[in-house]
Amino acid sequence: MNFVLHGTSVASGITIGQAHLVSTARLEVAHYEIAESAVQGEIFRFDAAIARAKQELALLEKQIPADAPAEFGAFLNLHRLMLEDSSLSHAPREIIRGRRCNAEWALVQQMEILGEQFDQVEDAYLRERRADMQQVVERVLKALIGDKAAPAPRRAEEHQLIVVAHDLSPADMLLFKGHEYGGFVTDLGGVTSHTAILARSLNIPALVGLHHARHMIREGEMLIVDGIQGVLVVNPDPIVLAEYRLRQSQHEIERAKLKRLRTTHAATLDGAEVDLYANIELPQDLEQVHEAGAEGIGLFRTEFLFMNRRDLPGEDEQFEAYREVARRMRGKPVVIRTLDVGADKALTGHAVTMPNPALGLRAIRYCLAEPHMFLAQLRAILRASHHGKVRILLPMVAHAHEIDQALGLVRQARAQLDDKGAPYDPKVEVGGMIEIPAAALALPMFIQRLDFLSIGTNDLIQYTLAIDRTDDAVAHLYDPLHPAVLQLVAHVIREARRAGTPVAVCGEMAGDLELTRLLLGFGLRNFSMHPAQLPAIKERVLRTSLGKARSYAQKVLRAGDAAKTRELLAKLNA
Ligand code: PEP
Ligand code: MG
Repeated sequence: MNFVLHGTSVASGITIGQAHLVSTARLEVAHYEIAESAVQGEIFRFDAAIARAKQELALLEKQIPADAPAEFGAFLNLHRLMLEDSSLSHAPREIIRGRRCNAEWALVQQMEILGEQFDQVEDAYLRERRADMQQVVERVLKALIGDKAAPAPRRAEEHQLIVVAHDLSPADMLLFKGHEYGGFVTDLGGVTSHTAILARSLNIPALVGLHHARHMIREGEMLIVDGIQGVLVVNPDPIVLAEYRLRQSQHEIERAKLKRLRTTHAATLDGAEVDLYANIELPQDLEQVHEAGAEGIGLFRTEFLFMNRRDLPGEDEQFEAYREVARRMRGKPVVIRTLDVGADKALTGHAVTMPNPALGLRAIRYCLAEPHMFLAQLRAILRASHHGKVRILLPMVAHAHEIDQALGLVRQARAQLDDKGAPYDPKVEVGGMIEIPAAALALPMFIQRLDFLSIGTNDLIQYTLAIDRTDDAVAHLYDPLHPAVLQLVAHVIREARRAGTPVAVCGEMAGDLELTRLLLGFGLRNFSMHPAQLPAIKERVLRTSLGKARSYAQKVLRAGDAAKTRELLAKLNA
């Protein structure tokens, strides 16, 4: 059967390939009733899966490398003990018997019950073991579902495959950076969720918010991901396929042309110089940064160094990552943002249990609550400043006392390095992200204390419009052109420039071609975006008349309504 699904494009381009269904075991668990006569067989299946999970753990324990940290053995041991505990190895049998349901479902039901019990435990350490329990359950689920799952593809074939998933966490997405898939589609996800941002950084066509793709598509079916129109075509007929192959090669030709601008410095037709910087998540993204010809790193999202691992990276490990980026940028600016965890970016073993994660202990709030960890990161960044032009960026600041406290910790980190005689750049600048409306409206408070500002439009929009950026149900309300958003962005750029404080935009608006001229018209001269977006933005800057952009920007601010703004933008971009 051929059909089309509509979603939201998070990375442009066209790709054609075969569906490869990827699942996080928990989400894909089927629920069905079984006949009374099948109960014993189902219990037998459950016992076999437990036995298999135990065997796997025993094998892992035997294969622990000599240089592995001691906690590794302890954690395997803990998982084995959990597996042997009757709450996991016996209780689901009773659920199978009592509710006459399949083994996977019984296990997930028991996991939910245990999860609630873990949440009520006073002791923080024990509470955190909830994540271990979930991992043990997932191991058993994999053993149960295992035989039905699609085999892992060979690396050489990956580029012909299009990953189809219901939803993936940013940590899951990060793992895809080591692969070479042809495209990516998910059922859930807002366009500026961190999952979508990571999908964009894979530099392959990607769609989110397709709603039912994971259930409607079968492994191996032919797919066309049209990241230009936001469309997924399933089992296309030969005419559609031929048309798309043509469009795909045209798109490739356009991309190749843009690459020729790599060494051209961005400036408008009237000669206004514009700095185009790149956003990165890991040092391995630098290859793309150099290919795109970025003039600096405007946002290094360091939290991704902290994901997919059970321990926190220590000062030395962080230092090595930051130094690598600083060195490889050869004296070009590198803005390192301090840890922005919380909300949709949970660390392993820290499942988010706050009532409102986006409004909770996130980013700078989390770091100030964990000064030990924050100091280690600040020392690592300061040490890296000896190897390049490093700057420190504080996320999600809203209060003057948060900045004062953070600056106090920067001083403390310096003093600690002085005591050890470790070198760092004493002039390292500290900036703040303007991504909460309160910060945008109380700007002088931040200008007085900080060396530079960077507007995080993803969160600024989320918090201005009260739209959870990860929630696909409200994704249609997430609008960068809302007059309130534009007023705030224009205000921050204008006031920062007036005060002589450098200001950049590092949220997704900076990489949106439709908005380049408008932001230039507001006075922005520093844009930071995914490297893949940079060549097209550069071309747009090179073809912009600043005079016209300024006059349209004023009209947009006066228009005060999104529909009129769209009309004006269409004219400005014509
Ligand atoms: C932003 O909020 O715009 C931003 C750049 O930070 P992040 O997307 O990592 O929250
Ligand atoms: Mg942000």
